[in-house]
Amino acid sequence: MDHFDYRDGALHAEAVPISEIAEAVGTPFYCYSTATLSRHYRVLAGAFADRDVLIAYSVKANSNLAVIATLARLGAGADVVSEGEARRALAAGVAPDKIVFSGVGKTRDEMDFALANGITHFNVESEPELEALSAVAAARNVTANVALRVNPDVDAGSHHKISTGRRTDKFGVSIDVAPELYGQAASLPGLTIDGVDIHIGSQLTDLEPFRRAFERAIDLVHRLRDDGHEITRLDLGGGLGIPYGAESPPGPEAYAQMVFALTEGLDGCRIVLEPGRVIAGNAGILVSRVIYVKESENRRFVILDAAMNDLIRPAMYDASHQVEPIVEPAADAAFHPVDLVGPVCETGDTFAIDRPMPPLAAGDLVAFRSAGAYGAVMASTYNSRLLVPEVLVDEDRFAIVRPRTDYETLLDQDHVPDWLQETAALSRGAA
Ligand SMILES: *Cc1c(COP(=O)(O)O)cnc(C)c1O
Repeated sequence: MDHFDYRDGALHAEAVPISEIAEAVGTPFYCYSTATLSRHYRVLAGAFADRDVLIAYSVKANSNLAVIATLARLGAGADVVSEGEARRALAAGVAPDKIVFSGVGKTRDEMDFALANGITHFNVESEPELEALSAVAAARNVTANVALRVNPDVDAGSHHKISTGRRTDKFGVSIDVAPELYGQAASLPGLTIDGVDIHIGSQLTDLEPFRRAFERAIDLVHRLRDDGHEITRLDLGGGLGIPYGAESPPGPEAYAQMVFALTEGLDGCRIVLEPGRVIAGNAGILVSRVIYVKESENRRFVILDAAMNDLIRPAMYDASHQVEPIVEPAADAAFHPVDLVGPVCETGDTFAIDRPMPPLAAGDLVAFRSAGAYGAVMASTYNSRLLVPEVLVDEDRFAIVRPRTDYETLLDQDHVPDWLQETAALSRGAA
């Protein structure tokens, strides 16, 4: 469910026509819907109502401060994987005790920043990381609450690059050696061992891999309790998929029912969830303008002003996004296959091949659906393109929540050493 619909033949985000935003900010741009973000959060929270649960929104899916603040206002915590994300969560108003610090390679500086700011919940992924956290916490005279991320050796069945729970993946510690490592961890200063953490991948469209992984994690909780550890936190990670096209992933309700069934009899254990995509994915679109339509022997290329640097999912994960014209096609419009491509100098800069589309001409606007997660956050300035701006809609109002930068700012980020100043000054003169 989302709040991007045609009204009177024009695509709207909630009550705001997309064309109006395009007029104000230019293209391409990302547009997020407050009502959709809120709805996704509330449906998940509702499914877990009456349970001791922390919904820690996975900031890496969409880390715009306005998006995090929208969710924080509803009570969401945050799952962060870097100091930058921790800073964002704090700046957006997430209470430190609702922030979980995950990630396979947290540095000592990052741990220290977190502890200095009251973030005490860590998901730790290796023995050396345990030792580092122990040293940092002890030096600060504070205690870090630790869950070990265990790798259950379950294939999420998702795209290779976003499957994280296989034995060969870099994440977590093997669940088989976990009890031993918990034993070691318990003797380290500065640490309170309180949880088990798991995250097997992203864009899962089937409950079975979750079930297998959760069963193993819950078995481990029992085993650790038998060993004398006080386990009060079971972090089930994120990973729930969304429909990009024909997929029909399980809804939050079915997911919750499965968790309830599996955790029956597991008392005194708070459930932590780290949803990212399922909250933000369908709450955002990427709006782009057709620059040219180019006909060659047997292909029609629709060349857009958005490119792989703005939305890398098709190039990176072979992802397919629905693309819709901003002006609703006539009921009898003829659809013809086209290749939707960007202007970046790589064949990989292709959003879709042979995609049936209604007639499109230069100047037309189109929207990439389901672009709210792993969209803007993965954007780069490749080809020296400006970072794409972001807009948040709330009913009939909208705000630019990240403005487009300009070329001066882009160039000023580089510094020419003094031995090249003369040459550079000459060429800059042309600007
Ligand atoms: C990426 C990530 C998530 C969120 O995954 P989604 O598929 O977006 O829900 C949660 N936890 C961890 C540790 C992650 O790395």
